[in-house]
Amino acid sequence: MTAKLIDGVAVAQKIRDECRERVQRIIAQGGTPPGLAVIIVGSDPASQIYVRNKIRACANVGIKSFRFDYPADVSQDTVIDQIMQLNDDPAVHGILVQLPLPPTFDMSRILHSISADKDVDGFHLYNVGGLVVGGTVFPPCTPYGVLKLLEHEHITLEGKNVVVVGASNIVGKPMALMLMQHEATVCICHAKTRDLAQFTILADILVVAAGYPNLIQPEMVRTGAVVIDVGINRLSDGQLVGDVNFAGVVAKASYITPVPGGVGPMTVSMLLVNTITSCERWQQQNFVPIVKKFSSARAAT
Ligand code: NAD
Repeated sequence: MTAKLIDGVAVAQKIRDECRERVQRIIAQGGTPPGLAVIIVGSDPASQIYVRNKIRACANVGIKSFRFDYPADVSQDTVIDQIMQLNDDPAVHGILVQLPLPPTFDMSRILHSISADKDVDGFHLYNVGGLVVGGTVFPPCTPYGVLKLLEHEHITLEGKNVVVVGASNIVGKPMALMLMQHEATVCICHAKTRDLAQFTILADILVVAAGYPNLIQPEMVRTGAVVIDVGINRLSDGQLVGDVNFAGVVAKASYITPVPGGVGPMTVSMLLVNTITSCERWQQQNFVPIVKKFSSARAAT
C-alpha cells in the first residue's frame, strides 16, 4: 500500500479563498473589516518568520493586521497594558501573542489577559473549557486545521480509534478534546508513556505532535492507518522533517500528511478563519460578549 498524500497547501489555499469571500461580504454589508493584532516579544528568528507569514496571509485575504514588537526585556505589565487597549479597540477582532515568550514571562498571565472574545488562538480558559463541554468559540488553530484536513478527505471520526502522541496545551490536549467531541475513541500518549508502539499500533488515525524526528517508525503503524504528522523539526543539515519516518510509513498508511506541506499551512489558515469568525460575531446585532454573558447569568441566579 502507498498512502495518499494529504495536500495541506491546497486545502489551506481553498480555506483562504473562502476567507477572502467572507471578508468581502462583511465589507459589502458596511461592516468593519476584520482586524488581527499580533504581539511579538524578543527576536527569536523562527517567531519572526511565523509572524511575517501570518501578517502576509492576513493581507492576502483582506484582514487588517496590527503588529507590536517589544524587546525581550520589556516588562510584562507593558505587554498586558497593550493587550488591555486592544481588548477595547473596535478595529481589532483577534489578538495573538506569538509564543514562546521570554522565560521571565508568566505565559498564562499574558494569555489570560486577552479577552475571550478576541482569543483567536483559543488559549483562554473560556475557550479551553468550551473544548471540554462543547461550544468553544475559537478552536486552537493547529488541531482545528487537522480536523479540517480529515474532513476534506471525508475521513470520519465517529467510533474510530485515534491515538494522539503529544499532550501539550497547544496541540495534543486540545486535539484529543476535539476528537472526543466527534465521538472518536481517543488515547493520548506523551513523553512518559511506556512502550509507545503498543498504543500507536491500535490507531485507525494517528496524530503525532511530539517534536521528535523519526519517533514513529513503520512497525508502530497499523496497515491502512491515517497518519497526521504535526511535528516540525529542523535537522542539523537544515532539512525540515516531521515526527514520522515518512519514507517507511508512507508504504503502510492509507493517508499521510507530508512535512512540510501538511498541517503547517493549515494552522495559519485556521487563524484567519477564527479572526473572521470573531469579526462576524462582534458585528452581530444581538452580540453579547462572553464576560457580560457570565455576569448576567450570575445576576439571574
Ligand atoms: P511541546 O514540546 O509543548 O509538547 C510535546 C509533547 O510531546 C509533550 O506532551 C511531550 O510529553 C510529548 N513527547 C515528547 N517526546 C515524546 C516521545 N518521545 N514520545 C511520546 N511523546 C513525546 O510541543 P508542541 O508545541 O505541542 O509541538 C509539538 C510539535 O508540533 C513540534 O514539532 C512543533 O514544532 C510542532 N507544531 C507544529 C505546528 C504546525 O502548525 N504544524 C503547530 C504547533 C506545533
